[in-house]
Amino acid sequence: MSSAKKRVIISACILGEYCRYDGKTKKISAVEEAYRGWEIIPFCPEAPLFGTPRERINVVDVNGEHRIITDETNVDVTKKLREEIERFCKEHPHADAIVLKSKSPSCGYGTTPILDKDKNELAKGNGIAADIFNLFYKNVQIQDENQFISE
Ligand code: SF4
Repeated sequence: MSSAKKRVIISACILGEYCRYDGKTKKISAVEEAYRGWEIIPFCPEAPLFGTPRERINVVDVNGEHRIITDETNVDVTKKLREEIERFCKEHPHADAIVLKSKSPSCGYGTTPILDKDKNELAKGNGIAADIFNLFYKNVQIQDENQFISE
């Protein structure tokens, strides 16, 4: 008898992986606990591309377009990240829930600082993965870890 588990995509740093740009984790146990019995699919597009630790990246508004640019060396890594995220989507075409790390240039959903070229914050918006997931996993609501933290 088959009983297909529901699937949840979760930012790997929330699951306790040491994959953040500074080599740290951001484990929030309540997220994993909330999805006990589900198939958990860890997601981190930055670590496999750029290693850990790595240079910080930012979302930068360039002539009205959001680009992902390294903080010190000023390299545009948008294309690389997009390809990595799209590869992940193809590998995992189905999800029932998504929990992403807030404020991240990749994973943030409505919480990521959008900077101008002088690094002034213009607004809060989405990281590149949240944007792509929004289109790809059309009917799946994106949440972040803050929805699982009780004050
Ligand atoms: S926020 Fe996203 S890209 Fe950044 S370390 Fe966590 S999973 Fe990786």
